[in-house]
Amino acid sequence: MDFIIINRYQNYIDANIAKGVLEAAGVESWLQDEFTVTIDPILTHAVGGIKLLTRKEDAEKALTILQQLKEEQKSRLICPRCGSHQIELVSTPKKTSNWLSVITGLFVNYAAPIDKVNHCFDCGFEFKTSSIEAG
Ligand SMILES: [Zn+2]
Repeated sequence: MDFIIINRYQNYIDANIAKGVLEAAGVESWLQDEFTVTIDPILTHAVGGIKLLTRKEDAEKALTILQQLKEEQKSRLICPRCGSHQIELVSTPKKTSNWLSVITGLFVNYAAPIDKVNHCFDCGFEFKTSSIEAG
């Protein structure tokens, strides 16, 4: 049986939301490197994140479902400043200029593995959302 990586995730929650949505639609999927990422968030980038796999024949359907999910999640986000829907999740840059900030960065990673903010493309406002509501 052939498997295809249809998406990659930097955190356990996003990966499992996607997997749940696929399963609800009748598409079987698997998460790879999930264990590594969950145990040690620092290794996330080293292993390329959590990989979401489906059967080759399900890949097209799965990608369509994930695209719909993305659009749906996006449309739920509204800029608190200007009310725009043009919101994208972006990574906040990390300062790794010296060894001390690297150590600190690692510590911060443990405390808050998700260091992403929602960026408004209309007014430039950046804000965090606690979590995506399931269901
Ligand atoms: Zn805005």
